[in-house]
Amino acid sequence: MRPRTRARAQARMRPRIRLASRSLTTALAAVALTAAGTLAAGSAPAQAAGAAACNGYVGLTFDDGPSGSTPALLDALRRNGLRATMFNQGQYAAANPSRVRAQVDAGMWVGNHSYTHPHLTQLGQAQIDAEISRTQQAIAAGGGGTPNLFRPPYGETNATVKAVAARYGLTQIIWDVDSQDWNNASTDAIVQAAGRLGNGQVILMHDWPANTLAAIPRIAQTLTAKGLCAGRISPQTGRAVAP
Ligand SMILES: [Zn+2]
Repeated sequence: MRPRTRARAQARMRPRIRLASRSLTTALAAVALTAAGTLAAGSAPAQAAGAAACNGYVGLTFDDGPSGSTPALLDALRRNGLRATMFNQGQYAAANPSRVRAQVDAGMWVGNHSYTHPHLTQLGQAQIDAEISRTQQAIAAGGGGTPNLFRPPYGETNATVKAVAARYGLTQIIWDVDSQDWNNASTDAIVQAAGRLGNGQVILMHDWPANTLAAIPRIAQTLTAKGLCAGRISPQTGRAVAP
């Protein structure tokens, strides 16, 4: 078919297509309504209709990137419809700015995880300040925006660390569930850890473990079965909320 003929044919077809899609929308709405009626039972029809049933939100977090593992992790998260918060080390953000951009492009949120991953509670205020401020700069330079979430390395914090973070508009986020992926947890154990998450809670995972990457599809299934969706972490409350 020549381009012009095809265009004309498409123009003729358009009203009918629109009509068809409208009745499809109506049909889908009906399916969604039906699904909503059985939602409490965690029904399969809700999934079949493509309606993500979010009875609550959890915060998936991945620390210590960006690294060579980041692209595969982002792929897995995207393929499984998950969004997460990536707590980046400033030194790696500075070394891999394009991967910071890739995190944002994949729909992730980017947080500050210090520059060199020290035990911040053993440092003076000026050093803490440098760790945090340099990371803010490195992430922004990579296209990650200015973070408003901060995770201290090892979850170690004190009043000084918290106050310096606050000076940069950062809310400190620890975690409710530790996946133990940094401690060589199996893929099964990581999936089970994610299964313990309740509404609003945050889980600690990392950018680099192979078992974490392997767990992603099953984490998605586990959350769906519980009616939980992956959300962003609110800087106001420190809890997971709708994106
Ligand atoms: Zn870390």
